Amino acid sequence: MLIYLNGKLVQEEEAKVSVFDHGLLYGDGIFEGIRIYSGRIFKLDEHITRLFMSARAILLEMPLNVYEMKEATIQTVRANKLQDGYIRLVVTRGVGDLGLNPLKCKLPTLIIIANKVALYPESLYEQGLDVITASTRRNITEGVNPAIKSLNYLNNILAKIEANNSGFPEALMLNHDGYVSECTGENLFIVRGKTVLTPPVSAGVLDGITRSTIKDICPALNLEFRETNLTRYDVFNSDEAFLSGTAAEIVPVVSLDRRVIGSGKPGEITRSISAEFRKIARSCGVPVYD
Ligand code: PMP
Repeated sequence: MLIYLNGKLVQEEEAKVSVFDHGLLYGDGIFEGIRIYSGRIFKLDEHITRLFMSARAILLEMPLNVYEMKEATIQTVRANKLQDGYIRLVVTRGVGDLGLNPLKCKLPTLIIIANKVALYPESLYEQGLDVITASTRRNITEGVNPAIKSLNYLNNILAKIEANNSGFPEALMLNHDGYVSECTGENLFIVRGKTVLTPPVSAGVLDGITRSTIKDICPALNLEFRETNLTRYDVFNSDEAFLSGTAAEIVPVVSLDRRVIGSGKPGEITRSISAEFRKIARSCGVPVYD
């Protein structure tokens, strides 16, 4: 596999970064995860825009401009002859000293990995996920704002550990005020009648790109899409629930804290949104090989 590292495509074995890189020492950096379907990069513009917004939010000067970043991404996919896969873009503050001062880091580190996607088993989509509420809360927006896709994922990892320790595959995270935020790496939605509800970004969630695709899909399926604060009560009383994310796409949720949601099976509306999403994801995107 060829990895893009600071302007060069190098073999995986040679793709190494310094132990003084502040991405490693302090989690000082940002990232993006992007899918490639049938030789087309899905929502490339949106992902690069979010990467630059994350960079701006942490005052990280990007080593490439928007156009160059897209080109470097395309070049990495091409070099690996990937048709279907997952692209990971990482930008760190770069090499500094052992202090945390970012002013000591003169050059950001840019890494682009284009790899095969590790897909979840199809049974997960057919049976749905059982989710547990974690006691670890999502970051407050006045701290490391969850809208920033930063390299600081410890809160989410702690929530995932709670799920693992309880024998559940996924955890729901509440925000500081006790409202629902999102799961450890996916946005959460509930369905009530013909309305799809999800917490607003102000509740402390990542402005997911799959989430905004769902927002675009809803009118065509005669569904209302609404952003609103949600509590666990709302999830327990919903007809259906599901998660969304670039890697997982749309995953039905069938229980929360051992309480069955709706019929306890993936719901019809979730299925129709998922089918529509898969159709869109596989038919549009930036072509890599044309
Ligand atoms: N929330 C979190 C915390 C995430 O890390 C992600 C991405 N894995 C998402 C939501 C989903 O965002 P997207 O649809 O842009 O992948």
